[in-house]
Amino acid sequence: MITIEEAKSLISKHIPMLKEEVLHTTDSLGFVLSQNVLSPIHLPSFNRSAMDGYAVCFSAQPTIEFKLAAEVKTGDFNNTELKQGECVRIFTGAMIPNGASAVVMQEKVTAKGKRIKLDKLPASGENIRTIGEQIKKDDLALSKGTLINAAGIGFLSALGITKIKAYKKPTISIVVTGNELSRPTEKLEQGKIYESNSQMLSSALKTSGYKASKIAWVKDDLDSTIKELELASKDSDIVLISGGISVGDYDYVETALEKIGVKKLFYKVNQKPGKPLFFGKKDKTLFFGLPGNPSASLICYYQYVLFAIKKMSGVSDGELEKRELISRNNFTKKGIRPQFLKAKANQNEVHLLEGQSSAMLHTFSLANALVYLPGHEQEIKVGDKLITYILPSI
Ligand code: AMP
Ligand code: MG
Repeated sequence: MITIEEAKSLISKHIPMLKEEVLHTTDSLGFVLSQNVLSPIHLPSFNRSAMDGYAVCFSAQPTIEFKLAAEVKTGDFNNTELKQGECVRIFTGAMIPNGASAVVMQEKVTAKGKRIKLDKLPASGENIRTIGEQIKKDDLALSKGTLINAAGIGFLSALGITKIKAYKKPTISIVVTGNELSRPTEKLEQGKIYESNSQMLSSALKTSGYKASKIAWVKDDLDSTIKELELASKDSDIVLISGGISVGDYDYVETALEKIGVKKLFYKVNQKPGKPLFFGKKDKTLFFGLPGNPSASLICYYQYVLFAIKKMSGVSDGELEKRELISRNNFTKKGIRPQFLKAKANQNEVHLLEGQSSAMLHTFSLANALVYLPGHEQEIKVGDKLITYILPSI
């Protein structure tokens, strides 16, 4: 049995980087740039007004009165040459005429016919967004390794960049095992349960911008487990297997993985829940054998699988956000294994939830965090500081 840290470090060591692909900028949300992006233009590409008001051209003798020469609407081409003492009516985003010294917002101007008077003379350049002030042509717009968010897509679009190169996201398959599993549309027979891990894991993937391309079901028998895992390994970068990895007589996943040539990198982690966690690799495909107990399965997903998926997709820090928060409850930990607990966190405090069993999902549906208790910590008291991992939110 290895430690949580050893497990994470083994995963890190064996993650293959995925290839890059060309994407339309509009489809690149959540992808990571695999190359630097240089700006093809100056942004803004011309001097623009930051206000609705008047663009004025200072006189040699400072005066606050100006003669109205023209009007420049936003979106119009304009090559007016302002002379000293002249101004133009202008609007936010419109082209600044040549020769303009500053823009004065309309609230600070008294306009009378063709003459305007300012409350006071503005500083030179005031309210002018100068050409290239955000970025200059050929300068670095976004660097390799940047995770593309909504603002990133806005920025790239503003530069007229319609295609980018990003790391691919992994193709992920889920294989659920168990004779007891029943489909949601079926009548629940005695001894059976509704299958929930595939729905849960594919939704967890969706939350972080990934998807399960295939979900397969297998009964607890070696031959069908081998067949299904073989199939899944052919067209997946990651295979997530639910259940069948424990020590029961009908748990065939470990043997099946061995038979199809998956190299075991670790099996069993010193943690609660999720001790029977398997990680292995065949060629470039990663295999995670997750515990069947739903809560344990999801905890292992958040702690290990998501981390691996993010790293493969080029995200430099795939770890969940970690905070030190104040406990709102007392809690007695059983045993000496490090433990992950379902919890509800706010900015300062964290509340340990009821129903910590590895089979229970009820309170997990209300959780937004996992508290980590190191092995040596047995008694948690109100006010203690707790290491808290914040879960990804929709
Ligand atoms: P296993 O790891 O296969 O021994 O399963 C441990 C527990 O998790 C058993 O109670 C199973 O019935 C349950 N379980 C396994 N797979 C699933 C699943 N896909 N959905 C819901 N519960 C499951
Ligand atoms: Mg089972």
